[in-house]
Amino acid sequence: MLVQRVKRRRRRSLIKVLLLVTVLVAVYSMAARWKEQEAVRTISWLVVNRVIVVDPGHGGVDPGAVGPGGSLEKDINLAISKRLQAILTQAGAVVVMTRETDTDLGTPGKSLSERKEEDLKKRLELVKQTRADLYISIQTNSLGTRWTGAQTFYDPGSAEGQRLARCIQQQLRQRLKNTDRVAMVRRNIFMLRNLEIPAAMVEVGFISNAGEERLLNNRAYQDRMAWAVYAGIAGYLAGDSGT
Ligand SMILES: [Zn+2]
Repeated sequence: MLVQRVKRRRRRSLIKVLLLVTVLVAVYSMAARWKEQEAVRTISWLVVNRVIVVDPGHGGVDPGAVGPGGSLEKDINLAISKRLQAILTQAGAVVVMTRETDTDLGTPGKSLSERKEEDLKKRLELVKQTRADLYISIQTNSLGTRWTGAQTFYDPGSAEGQRLARCIQQQLRQRLKNTDRVAMVRRNIFMLRNLEIPAAMVEVGFISNAGEERLLNNRAYQDRMAWAVYAGIAGYLAGDSGT
């Protein structure tokens, strides 16, 4: 009897300790997140009145890559872009989105390849018309099943694009803590090649990897991704080298 009671009491106090630890961990991680976002907020004057185009890749008839769990790249790109739009807008930037819903900019009735070509041309036109200061493309990578990690790309002809990409990549590494990838050149990306303003393409992760596909659908992760891209943009505008 006595032994059982002691055991029960021990179990109860163990549960209490576990509960306390859970609460402490939750409070600590909330405080850490708040501190991180506060640190970014203090540098928001850097983006005030800057015109920034955020371009969520694909949309409408063009789903982009498809994950093993059935997620569509176009949806992930849009969700993260919208978070980035909200953060940038809150910081005082003028954000132009190439799309805000699940649509493409091509004309219905055309073949898919013609429509995709028209879609890209219209996005380029839009960026040029807005006289934007910066261009950020949000895309999702897809290659085999083993690769993971966000990576930023730039056109070989743009030194400022390179610096922008490096600043973003640095923040992706520091804030997401799940990749050691570096910013890389990518040739012949239609949007990057044809823009004269600083431009970078963020591949937010590999949708082809089941684990990363799940992560990319997670709202908290999408939020952290958007904050990292925002911090990279702010770093670029502050004159950081990104290395
Ligand atoms: Zn894509």
